[in-house]
Amino acid sequence: MKKNEKVKLIREIEKPIKIFGKQLKITRVVLILVAFLIYFVSLYYETRSNTPLVLGIIPLVLLSFTLILIKNRILYIGKYNIECSNAGDLYITKLKGSCPKCQGELKVVKKLNDQFVICKNNKEHKFYLQEN
Ligand SMILES: [Zn+2]
Repeated sequence: MKKNEKVKLIREIEKPIKIFGKQLKITRVVLILVAFLIYFVSLYYETRSNTPLVLGIIPLVLLSFTLILIKNRILYIGKYNIECSNAGDLYITKLKGSCPKCQGELKVVKKLNDQFVICKNNKEHKFYLQEN
């Protein structure tokens, strides 16, 4: 089974993520998460209770996802993706494409560090994703 072929997917949906009518920037997300993290850590030192540490896992997990997003510019979450533009603006996108072999619907699959596109009709139809 070869998967050396590349396919390009089209953005079917491209929606800017806005909060209170303002475009959400990746730097803002990082700052907010870091602030939450510092808050929970300082709360732990103040109270010596484990609750802030447990709650602190949430911003920590979100922060690691954000760092992956900064590195890869795209994060695949089921059917939809979160994309980060060069300017740091965040978008919700949905990628769509058809299989060059059978015109079947394509979907992005991610396994560890390997990322590829497979055909829904036939799993043997594997391709590499061509970045836009
Ligand atoms: Zn196919």
